[in-house]
Amino acid sequence: MIIGSHVGFSKEQLLGSVKEALSYNANTFMFYTGAPQNTMRSKIDQNLTNEAHKLMQENNILLKNVICHAPYIINLANNLDNRKWEFSIEFLKQEIKRCEQLGISYIVIHPGSSLTIDKQEALKNIATALNKILQTPTSCMILLETMAGKGSECGTDIMQLKTIIDNVDKEIGVCLDTCHLFDSGVSIENFDQYLDLFAKEIGLDKIHCLHLNDSKNPLASHKDRHANIGFGYIGFTNLLKVITNPRLQNIPIILETPYVGNTIADKSRLYPPYKFEIEMLRQGQFDHELLEKIIAYYK
Ligand code: FE
Ligand code: FE
Ligand code: ZN
Repeated sequence: MIIGSHVGFSKEQLLGSVKEALSYNANTFMFYTGAPQNTMRSKIDQNLTNEAHKLMQENNILLKNVICHAPYIINLANNLDNRKWEFSIEFLKQEIKRCEQLGISYIVIHPGSSLTIDKQEALKNIATALNKILQTPTSCMILLETMAGKGSECGTDIMQLKTIIDNVDKEIGVCLDTCHLFDSGVSIENFDQYLDLFAKEIGLDKIHCLHLNDSKNPLASHKDRHANIGFGYIGFTNLLKVITNPRLQNIPIILETPYVGNTIADKSRLYPPYKFEIEMLRQGQFDHELLEKIIAYYK
């Protein structure tokens, strides 16, 4: 099983990310090249990158399984403000360059939000933007993430993703997010039905990453609030069935579940759940006391 989590990318850049992933006993990870909510980025340090690659090699983390996530404030779907749209395109180009410098093969993007414009128009804009970005050949593949349908998000169902993919000249892929799928109305209990349709319309070979998250809200809530594995409405059994599905093997699994702790009494003390969630998923057995164990471990 190739499994890891979202990790930081700060002073030590990729080297810091690798160290954090190793502290969770992960064999892959996903990072943002800076804060996900802004576009301020530092220059990639080649020495740190080399050290990171060496540390990965020593610990059997394959570069091809590591994922970058673009900041979620860029929006390729709406071009009413042309300057903003062009900025998103330019930023994503730069982000892909950073991925190449880091040796990363996949970058996940949120397709974007249509805001006030027509959905089909928005899907066309996304494809146009991606075609502009991919005019420069790259070794890093763009993956469209499946979205929950919060606000006016695009990419909330298979046909929308298909429309984008069909209108992009170069090859792009998809990143499934279980929380987003569930919130958009896909029953994870009948996940195979979803995969059947995906296979028919897009092709399962386009799936290169899986975000594994439980959901704090019931089916089709369009909320996008992630819950810890087994502590939400999807449930442990259904999530385990997704990652053991024979049609989804050898795809990096990335946890984006929330930090745990007593948020009301002590806001500053929140702990990463990933080491424990990864272990629980590898064992295939739900642990009702997992959250208490995480707090006890880091305290
Ligand atoms: Fe995402
Ligand atoms: Fe996600
Ligand atoms: Zn989400």
